[in-house]
Amino acid sequence: PLDAASRIANLFGAQRAPQTVHAVDEATLGIHAGEVVGLVGESGCGKSTLGRMAVGLHTLSSGVREWKGEDLAQLNAAQRRRAQLGMQMIFQDPYASLNPRLRVRDIIGEAPVVHGMAAAGERDELVASLLQKVGLDPSVARRFPHQFSGGQRARIGIARALAVNPELLVCDEAVAALDVSIQAQVLNLFMRLRDELALTYLFISHDLGVVRHISDRVLIMYLGRIVESAPTDALFAQPNHPYTVALLASAPKLEARKVAFHAVKGEIPSPLHPPSGCHFHPRCPHAMPRCRDEQPPLKEVAPRHFSACHLNDVP
Ligand code: SF4
Ligand code: MG
Repeated sequence: PLDAASRIANLFGAQRAPQTVHAVDEATLGIHAGEVVGLVGESGCGKSTLGRMAVGLHTLSSGVREWKGEDLAQLNAAQRRRAQLGMQMIFQDPYASLNPRLRVRDIIGEAPVVHGMAAAGERDELVASLLQKVGLDPSVARRFPHQFSGGQRARIGIARALAVNPELLVCDEAVAALDVSIQAQVLNLFMRLRDELALTYLFISHDLGVVRHISDRVLIMYLGRIVESAPTDALFAQPNHPYTVALLASAPKLEARKVAFHAVKGEIPSPLHPPSGCHFHPRCPHAMPRCRDEQPPLKEVAPRHFSACHLNDVP
């Protein structure tokens, strides 16, 4: 599967750079230290792009990236490099992101040596301790990626990310390619690592069950905008935005591992030409005339619960 930006780039052919398209329209993403934030939406809604923007893999056409209260653009090169190491991304397909020609030892041990966080002589010891952290035997360090199962490769990808002592992990569909039983094991590993290493996560997924299991707070994204943000329990107990309501209604299908959000009426519109006003209005059962013209801002509808819907203005 391609992320929103590359899908859009494909539509245009090769000439157009993905950055020229507003896969993310207007989204503010704030994550507190120690928090697990789930980011949910249909494929093509821009959630991967937003995650990539957060770690600096996609450039912002406007807006600011801050890390620990500091504007990253204002830091010098050394400070920015240090900040960048603090945020690592974990991808959906660990096989595609692991170089098949490198041994696990090199896959995991390269970055800390390159960045001066470990001496070359300390590498093997560091790799062994990282493998143990993710539940693998240190003896596998000499093997190549193809010699592992999907779940083991996911663990190797996690060990590689941990090698540079990150504080924030952005996980993009990190368990989506795995069997359900293996998914649970890897999710439990994420939770254990969070406690052991005081990690913060942005957990991007189309799977509401996964997000509900792991997140403290959930963000719902629709066509490049965050339409709802709430503590996980509140979001599932009292969803506010009609799009969220529709997503939750489709949840039993998701649990049955049907990938798409078929319960939401209509096709997701093209992110190239998003509908005016509230992007959701063509699919919304509650749409009013103003929904076509006015973009609803995110408003606090309950403590720490934000939703972008004009219905909240209706007395
Ligand atoms: Fe539906 Fe209007 Fe709310 Fe959008 S703003 S979700 S169209 S009611
Ligand atoms: Mg994606």
